[in-house]
Amino acid sequence: MEILYRSTRGPEEKALTASQAILQGLAPDGGLFVPVDLPQVELNFAKLINAPYQEVAYQILHAFLTDFTEQELRDCINKAYDKKFTTPAIAPLKKSEDGYFLELFHGPTLAFKDMALSILPYLMTTAAKKNHLDKEIVILTATSGDTGKAAMAGFADVPGTSIIVFYPKDGVSSIQKQQMVTQTGANTHVVGIDGNFDQAQTNVKKIFNDTLFRKQLAAKDFQFSSANSINIGRLVPQIAYYVFAYAQLLKKGAIKNGDKVNFSVPTGNFGNILAAYYAKAIGLPIGKLICASNKNNVLTDFFNSGVYDKNRPFYVTTSPSMDILVSSNLERLIFQLSGKNDQQTRIFMQLLNETGNYQVNDNMRRSLDDFYADYASELETTNEINRVFRENQYTIDPHTAVASAVARKYHEATGDKALTVVVSTASPFKFPNPVLQALSGKAAPVDGIPADETLASFINLPLPKPIEQLRSAPVLHKQIVEPNAMQEAIAEILGV
Ligand SMILES: *Cc1c(COP(=O)(O)O)cnc(C)c1O
Repeated sequence: MEILYRSTRGPEEKALTASQAILQGLAPDGGLFVPVDLPQVELNFAKLINAPYQEVAYQILHAFLTDFTEQELRDCINKAYDKKFTTPAIAPLKKSEDGYFLELFHGPTLAFKDMALSILPYLMTTAAKKNHLDKEIVILTATSGDTGKAAMAGFADVPGTSIIVFYPKDGVSSIQKQQMVTQTGANTHVVGIDGNFDQAQTNVKKIFNDTLFRKQLAAKDFQFSSANSINIGRLVPQIAYYVFAYAQLLKKGAIKNGDKVNFSVPTGNFGNILAAYYAKAIGLPIGKLICASNKNNVLTDFFNSGVYDKNRPFYVTTSPSMDILVSSNLERLIFQLSGKNDQQTRIFMQLLNETGNYQVNDNMRRSLDDFYADYASELETTNEINRVFRENQYTIDPHTAVASAVARKYHEATGDKALTVVVSTASPFKFPNPVLQALSGKAAPVDGIPADETLASFINLPLPKPIEQLRSAPVLHKQIVEPNAMQEAIAEILGV
């Protein structure tokens, strides 16, 4: 069965192949690509239980990206999930008193974005070959901290590509910033903006949709694509680790085949949890999808009231990758809930753009039942890091702590006895000061690597290799621009 991809804001007749959708990133009408129909996937756990991560990934990619050959997919997978991950399990499960943590932070940048961004460059260059594209692919990305670095790590020195990353100059952690400004690779460009992530993301979308600018670029043999989680080539690889987690739970004897498992996902742009939603939709026995937010709890309010309202204060928190008021991927869920109604989806997104809010109807609200949503305050997040450490001698980062705290709230509120897996999206070494503060009551005087050293000795673990390497890495990117000067910056970098 061939799976085609259509825009959430356009007719099914304009659907593209998977490789075309990956190359385009965003649909020309501003919508996001979604599968016209979900594939039928045979989740044969008798086999998957002993399969390595790469094989599970192949089963999922093969089902969704139907215009890629087996050889192409296996090639992409083997290049992506190799020794740059510090554990051969790629996505190991850690048992705790309350359930399990699914550790997605063993890639080169210590956050879960590596799970998809280590494979996207290969999917994209393979897609370019398949479609006889001779233009240079320019990856344009707004980052709240983790995407940018993971995308650059993936695309650095990949022939036929270049990458431009915008980050909010005061909205990322010290380690995140250092990781970005030290990025090597002749084709990588990093620009700080004097604004927040939503401004960066909104402007990137605008620049994408600027037809005149696109034409000017095309004349110079450049074509934009996106490494943000709006790209379907990021979403699909993320489905794999939910299936892999389920297989691991079976293997450990923690569940029986068919038992429902909940996943608690620390959510920002709604990409990670949407992958879980797709995993459930293709038949993985998932109970609740627990949507965990920090103090920027726009999604909590949406799931509990049916009203999405971004007109609210924006907070900078200790979980910066979730400091988001416009969750892009929610559009894909809205589209699904509306019964794949592109007209209605377009209207909701127009309302969001023009008035900052929209309300879904009762029918759509009823379909939100797959989800449970709540948030953790900064204090609750700190307390959770501390509690998990005391009870398990296990250190979690603030994003993971948000999901862990919300999972507890869920079990208390509902009495659900099913197993919950907390999706662990970053290494604690990526956010050392809030973690130290939570564990010892005292942050290190200097954030960044000095704080990491203090943390390492406090929890008695070695520094992860990617942090070690940061120590001596020179700063290579210093540019800062105003949010409204992003397009100019791009034109200058590309010489158009
Ligand atoms: C990106 C990110 C998130 C949020 O994931 P979404 O897919 O944007 O919802 C959570 N935690 C960390 C550490 C991240 O990097």
